[in-house]
Order: sequence, then C-alpha cells, then structure tokens
Amino acid sequence: MSERFDFIIIGAGASGEAAASYARARGATVALVERDLFGGTCAFWGCMPSKTLLHAAEIRACGGDYSWEKASARRDYMIVREGRDYPDDSGHIKGYKAKGTVPVRGTAKIAGPGRVVVRTAKESRELEARDIVIAVGSVAKVPKIEGLAEAGFWTNKEGTSLRELPKSIAILGAGPSGTELAQVYARFGVRTTLVSPRQVNPTDHPRSSALLAKAFARPGWTSARTRAPSAFGPAPGRAGNTSSSSPTGRRSKPR
Ligand SMILES: Cc1cc2nc3c(=O)[nH]c(=O)nc-3n(C[C@H](O)[C@H](O)[C@H](O)COP(=O)(O)OP(=O)(O)OC[C@H]3O[C@@H](n4cnc5c(N)ncnc54)[C@H](O)[C@@H]3O)c2cc1C
Repeated sequence: MSERFDFIIIGAGASGEAAASYARARGATVALVERDLFGGTCAFWGCMPSKTLLHAAEIRACGGDYSWEKASARRDYMIVREGRDYPDDSGHIKGYKAKGTVPVRGTAKIAGPGRVVVRTAKESRELEARDIVIAVGSVAKVPKIEGLAEAGFWTNKEGTSLRELPKSIAILGAGPSGTELAQVYARFGVRTTLVSPRQVNPTDHPRSSALLAKAFARPGWTSARTRAPSAFGPAPGRAGNTSSSSPTGRRSKPR
C-alpha cells in the first residue's frame, strides 16, 4: 500500500532540505528520499570539509602551528566521521523528524504521475504525492583521458575526505573546487599541479581569474601551476572538474 504526502522530495542535499523546510513551514506533508547521506554533498563532501581544511591551511600559511593530523581530525568532526569510515547522517534525520518531515532511505524511481517507488536492498516502498520535487544534485564529469580509469582517480569525495596526504597530486580542473583543494594540499606540503585548459577559475570574471592565477604562481606560496592538456577538449573549465561525486570508472580509495 502506498503512503500519501503533499510533496515527495527526491534528494536530501541542500536543495532538497530547503524545499522540505519551506513545504513544512507552510503545513504541507513531506517525504524526503535519499539514497546515500541525508545532508548531501555540501554537508559531507563539499562546503563543510573544504572550508574546514581551507581554514586550517590558511592558519598554517600565516605561520600558525596546524598539523595535517589536527586538520584531518577537525574535518572528520565537521562531517561527523570521527572514529568511523563513513559519515553519520543521523543528526540530519533527527532534525527532519523534529520538523515533521518523513525521511525515507533508498533509491527513488518515478513510477508514474505522482508516484515514486523507493528501493533499498531489503525493501521497497510506494509513495504518492500531489507534487514531486527532483533535487538529485550533480555528478562529476570525468574527462576521457587514456589510462585514467585504470590508474584510478579521485573526485571531490575522496579529495575532501582523505586522512593521509599524498606526496604529489595533479588536479584536473581549476574551477572553485579545484582551486580550493589545490590550495589546501599545497599549503600542507603536497607537490600540487593544478591543470587547467586556459585560465584559473574560467567561469569567474577574467580579472578575478587573473588575480587568482597570479596568486598561485607566487614563488613560495604554493607549488600549484597551470597548463593546458588537449585532453580537456574545447570547452574550457567544463571537463575534469572535481565537483560532486559518483563518476564512472575506477576510483582509488583515499587512506
Ligand atoms: C569541494 C566543494 C566545495 C563546495 N563549497 C561550497 C561553498 O563553500 N558554498 C556553497 O554554497 N557551495 C559549495 N559547494 C557546492 C555545493 O556543495 C552544492 O551546490 C550543493 O551541495 C548542491 O546541493 P544539491 O542539493 O543540489 O545536491 P546534492 O547535495 O548533491 O544532493 C543531491 C542528493 O540526491 C541524492 N540522490 C540522487 N539521486 C537519487 C535518487 N534516485 N534517489 C534518492 N536520492 C538520490 C544524492 O545521493 C544526493 O545526496 C561546494 C562543492 C564542492 C564539491
């Protein structure tokens, strides 16, 4: 038998959470469906860990005593991953329940107008609603580079959750995520190469991109640099982006 709501929201990242919150504030009934972590990219693999690591890297760059171990532990605290491998999203679930939103764990599939089937390995639930909000976020665009899948690669997920620093790293894509992570790694002593087809942060204003590129090139500040491989293809900044998760291909596990 199906459960009925005013809204079914698929995806519990920042967008889905906001939609649920607005709908509940107006008295609507809401089912919020999530196949992975309630809280989504921002809370666990995006804004929160990256800003925490950037803060630590900045303190270090200003001469402060901030070890990688401390930065990594603080990041784990921020993404609720202390003493475990995968973050704990129970705080988010508790918050929704307190506001009257019904969290439903599983992968959602639209089964017809106003009908959603949510599946987990163990069970299947049928939901019905007047409106369905699709807030499923985005996935990383992995460029077609020969050997990349065999060699393994990271996306923002591994890039923000690593516990041991690599000796060196090449970051493909100098958008916001690439430049942020390059700054973190370089400031913690990783030999970092920031690879970009044309300019740093290509969708930004050219003057601000130029400023950023100049900062990256400053001697002694970071070892990141840019270059232009043909593998990126014609659209600047669109391929090789580190943003978001779940690419196809083989990913190497961060330690
Ligand atoms: C490194 C990094 C740093 C960032 N820093 C900032 C920042 O400082 N400030 C800022 O504003 N933004 C930042 N962002 C961007 C921000 O994280 C995203 O804009 C935001 O997370 C997008 O939210 P969303 O809800 O659209 O998608 P997501 O957070 O990706 O949520 C979508 C959810 O949908 C779920 N889903 C997908 N398909 C299904 C399905 N069929 N059934 C059930 N669930 C499904 C996914 O599991 C996922 O949890 C950063 C991003 C990255 C990668």
